[in-house]
Amino acid sequence: MSEQFDVVVIGGGPGGYTAAIRAAQLGFKTACVDDWSRADGKPAPGGTCTNVGCIPSKALLQSSENFEHAGHSFADHGIGVSGLVIDVKKMLARKDKVVAQNNDGILYLFKKNKITFFHGFGSFAGKEGDLWKLAVAGSKPAELTAKHVIIATGSKPRALPGVTFDNVRVLDNDGALAIPEVPRKLGVVGAGVIGLEMGSVWRRLGADVIVLEALPAFLGVVDTAIAKEALKLFTRQGLVIQTGVQITDVKVGKDDVTVTYTDAAGKVENVTFDRLIVSIGRVPFTGGLGADAVGLELDERGFVAVDGECRTNLPNVWAIGDVVRGPMLAHKAEDEGVAVTERIAGQQGHVDFNTVPWVIYTSPEIAWVGKTEQQLKAEGVDYRAGSFPFTANGRARAMGETAGFVKILADRRTDRILGMHVIGPMASELISEGVVAMEFGAASEDLARICHAHPTLSEATKEAALAVDGRTLNL
Ligand SMILES: Cc1cc2nc3c(=O)[nH]c(=O)nc-3n(C[C@H](O)[C@H](O)[C@H](O)COP(=O)(O)OP(=O)(O)OC[C@H]3O[C@@H](n4cnc5c(N)ncnc54)[C@H](O)[C@@H]3O)c2cc1C
Repeated sequence: MSEQFDVVVIGGGPGGYTAAIRAAQLGFKTACVDDWSRADGKPAPGGTCTNVGCIPSKALLQSSENFEHAGHSFADHGIGVSGLVIDVKKMLARKDKVVAQNNDGILYLFKKNKITFFHGFGSFAGKEGDLWKLAVAGSKPAELTAKHVIIATGSKPRALPGVTFDNVRVLDNDGALAIPEVPRKLGVVGAGVIGLEMGSVWRRLGADVIVLEALPAFLGVVDTAIAKEALKLFTRQGLVIQTGVQITDVKVGKDDVTVTYTDAAGKVENVTFDRLIVSIGRVPFTGGLGADAVGLELDERGFVAVDGECRTNLPNVWAIGDVVRGPMLAHKAEDEGVAVTERIAGQQGHVDFNTVPWVIYTSPEIAWVGKTEQQLKAEGVDYRAGSFPFTANGRARAMGETAGFVKILADRRTDRILGMHVIGPMASELISEGVVAMEFGAASEDLARICHAHPTLSEATKEAALAVDGRTLNL
């Protein structure tokens, strides 16, 4: 006997569980199916983000940053620390606790919003009139029918061709977040967000880290000035970053892994690492969903094909998050989930892809929204740029974190803000001001005329806005 729902969400990551909550708020009888399990077999909703992505990485980044501060910058404050050690086991246990708190939080939200949660693997099992039939496999198998289905099955790590993840020597994001001791020498393939964050964690704890990037430019998608500053700062911190490399062989031994590559100058290198993190991107996950059986269209890269409003080719079947086109970011998945359920309810759900912020949680952090300077140049847009360094910001000096700057790009004629780019302390928080400003179509002068509390890091944003018109006050 199948149970009937208005909306069934397959996948309980940030896209799926948020969609389920909004659907329930809108009065739909809602279910969410998710297969992620904790070590003891209990449900662990939250997807990649909660279990092996955003949350655990930020927990380890915080732990390792505390360790680095204690070892390097506490002395500047007159704080002496002797016998500093890192207990990796305890650090990982704390990270696991943070993850579990988030899993429990989502289970609580399901209950609070009267969402029926199925812990198991969901797949399409055909149609019954207007309703979609779904099967849940797991410890408690179930059959469901649904008027609307939202696919939010996320993504999985991309492997190097011919090199499988064993999560002992060759690590994906899951393995990178659970290395049981500080590696002496750590290789990271891919200088993207995940590679830089994970490389930073283990470098701060004492590993020699070499990051190997195939593309010729470091952080090519980031504003060039920010990427240049980042390369300088990360190199000074001790991360060895090589761009333009071509990996030709990876040999996995019992206790190590040897990578053969050609560097940008064409020289062949052989480097042996204790562990190798492979972070060369992620691919959409639709395995076992039954896409073929019901004729669900995938695009040539394996993403579920959707229109601008997340509609698939099947009636009343929607798809959101990492499994569809667009940036693989938790907040993009969440916003698509909300927008889709609002569309199901006949409302005007909307996601503005021009104002999706990006963050790299290194130290200093990097964050941006809107266009980069190189994009504006390529598009022939006439713009003005204003920058302000944290060295001239009182709060940053008091914190002892003066590396980096804020940069604002605005249309020369209308002064409308086209992009904001930050490298510096708490860039992840500062960027929201740029997002709000852009959503409201603000001009750089609007930001420059808004009263900002003193002393705050956000004064650097105001000063960058003033700099667009060449009239900073504190530089
Ligand atoms: C190391 C790392 C760090 C990251 N840091 C950030 C960050 O700081 N900020 C940020 O915005 N993004 C970050 N991301 C990206 C972010 O995790 C993803 O963009 C986000 O999780 C996508 O959400 P989603 O809901 O689309 O899919 P997912 O989070 O992948 O969730 C999909 C869920 O569906 C389940 N599932 C799949 N198929 C089925 C099925 N048939 N039946 C039942 N369940 C199924 C999966 O097991 C999973 O639980 C990070 C990613 C990684 C790997």
